[in-house]
Amino acid sequence: PQSWPHGHGLGYKDLQAVLQETPTAEKIEEWSRYYTAGPHLAGRNFSQVLWTQEKWKEFGVEDTTIASYDVYINYPQDHRLALLKQTADNYEITFEATLEEDVLDEDSTSGLPDRVPTFHGYSASGNVTAPYVYANFGTYQDFADLEEAGISVKGKIVLVKYGFIFRGLKVKRAQDLGAVGVIIYSDPQEDGEVTELNGYKAYPNGPARNPTAVQRGSVQFLSIAPGDPTTPGYASKPGVDRQDPQGSIPSIPSLPISYTEALPLLKALNGHGPKAADFNEGWQGGGLVHKGVKYHIGPTPDDVVVNLYNKQEYVTTPLWNVIGVIKGSLSDEVVILGNHRDAWIAGGAGDPNSGSAALNEVVRSFGDALKAGWKPLRTIVFASWDGEEYGLVGSTEWVEEKLPWLSKTNVVYLNVDVAASGPHFDVSASPLLNKAIYEVTGLVQSPNQTVKGQTVRDAWNGYIATMGSGSDFTAFQDYAGVASVSIGFARGPGDPVYHYHSNYDSFDWMKRFGDPGWKYHVTTARLFSLLAAYYSEKPVLGLNATDYAIGLREYLDHIKPHAHSLPKNTHFSFGPLEKSIAELHDVAISFDAYAAELVSHLHDDVPWYHWWKKVQLFFQIRSVNEKYKTIERKFLYEDGLDGRSWYKHVVFAPGLWTGYAGATYPGLVESFDAGNVTNAVRWSGIIQERISQVVDLLK
Ligand code: GLU
Ligand code: CA
Ligand code: ZN
Ligand code: ZN
Repeated sequence: PQSWPHGHGLGYKDLQAVLQETPTAEKIEEWSRYYTAGPHLAGRNFSQVLWTQEKWKEFGVEDTTIASYDVYINYPQDHRLALLKQTADNYEITFEATLEEDVLDEDSTSGLPDRVPTFHGYSASGNVTAPYVYANFGTYQDFADLEEAGISVKGKIVLVKYGFIFRGLKVKRAQDLGAVGVIIYSDPQEDGEVTELNGYKAYPNGPARNPTAVQRGSVQFLSIAPGDPTTPGYASKPGVDRQDPQGSIPSIPSLPISYTEALPLLKALNGHGPKAADFNEGWQGGGLVHKGVKYHIGPTPDDVVVNLYNKQEYVTTPLWNVIGVIKGSLSDEVVILGNHRDAWIAGGAGDPNSGSAALNEVVRSFGDALKAGWKPLRTIVFASWDGEEYGLVGSTEWVEEKLPWLSKTNVVYLNVDVAASGPHFDVSASPLLNKAIYEVTGLVQSPNQTVKGQTVRDAWNGYIATMGSGSDFTAFQDYAGVASVSIGFARGPGDPVYHYHSNYDSFDWMKRFGDPGWKYHVTTARLFSLLAAYYSEKPVLGLNATDYAIGLREYLDHIKPHAHSLPKNTHFSFGPLEKSIAELHDVAISFDAYAAELVSHLHDDVPWYHWWKKVQLFFQIRSVNEKYKTIERKFLYEDGLDGRSWYKHVVFAPGLWTGYAGATYPGLVESFDAGNVTNAVRWSGIIQERISQVVDLLK
């Protein structure tokens, strides 16, 4: 007799088979075509909300509801960008930007009459006219280099390339230094080998970047806090108190442009100020030299100015998450899977709808399993988030609302954003999940096999990145302390250019260049559902404490060089932290071994008159799982990080000046960087305290 609460009708192996076999390219194509047929900006996608809810119910997830929030966001109204030459008492227009992407016959959604204008989410309205400065990528270091060279951005407009860091932080640094506006363009430099210069034709005739492609995107100050900037730390329910959003969104206007429209601005800088290439390595390059750009920094002379006009309408408007629930036998252990649905453009075939199509196949697969009589051991929740693009708004508000319940029950959060934009498997995760990721990637066939039978695991370099930000796992990992993972397939330098946040991230591009045959979509769907099953079905939770200790040690070694920024006469010792981590390592090894032993007893043949042994095992496993679930939570610090208290995790946060790339031990690193030894010692103490709580938990 089976004493472990268990699904009837379908065992784990059978469930895995259903999850492998259900997703098809035909269905993926159908979902992709639906989601990418028209604009679906946050808060303006209600038909897709209802459709998604309807589909999930049809697939067999009866309990599918809509979670709605009233959030503060912007919609574009008007914009202008022009290069002007000032004459005696007038301006002469030397270049008027269209701020439009080309309409292509070969790309059916590029010419929709209601297509989304090029703009930035959460950007400030404004109308400024000023000389401008070229600031490379607009990183913190780039601005520091400019200052060192005596070039001020104060009162100027700043022209920067996309790349390296989250765009909102380029605007933040420019604003902090007194700039009056920011223009961000896509330099072909970011496209690797696949450029027209190397003989590739531009989309739609080939895989290179279409020269008119524009990257829209949010300029929220992501590393300060994601979510609705008027309700940090609580849900944007109708009628709640609203805070002034200043401080987490820009106060100066910005616009995104294509490299075609950046050309006249860059050329007008030729001969003014130093050459970027003379600065240092970080400033080398730029992919428009063959077009006559010399990459001078400027500023432009006083009579060569740009007029940047940006008009945004700010509203408080409903957003809708679609939430589907399959109740498990253990309702206090919950596995959550999510993907966002809103896109900057009509298409969004890669971002996010490759993920949305995959998620639909995941829900359909689990629905089929339900129809075959399966009942999950743990509760599974599916989420289709809204408002991710503006700043992870739908997921963040939901997490803020459900925090008490999530803290009690949520075992893991599994995220997919862009499921398919190239052939390289990409994953970031809490180290608790490393083992699961290696196991599950080994179960799924790779779409690009060099040897027959290769799995995703075989075709992948095995690198698991730390959690940064830029997608919906952020509130789970950094605010609620839920161990999270995000997976997808991305392009490398030799693959077709992915027109991120541009009209050309379209169904037509995806079908021809991104994922012909929809193989990477199907593969993501399989990986995603098998990961969910891994967490919902194994009696002992598939989390690994030892990997966390190993991770903590590696991250520490990694950040050590930052301590050199402390003043010479001060002393900081890593000894105490190293000691706590070593202690955790020992305890974790024993704990994981104990958990493995419990797993082995599940198969014991216990005679019926020893039934109590089964009951005992049940309670032992429940207790082990409770501890596994709690590990990540223990790394939260109630007061949060310095100057950005929304972020509660002491090990992981988005880099203060990177956004996407994760920082480890952020409190400590930022104290080092500020040369503040007292604060570094304080943070070392805070982190040790958290680690010793985990030690106590697992002992
Ligand atoms: N994924 C979106 C982006 O990279 C939103 C990121 C964010 O605001 O956190 O633009
Ligand atoms: Ca909020
Ligand atoms: Zn996305
Ligand atoms: Zn996006």
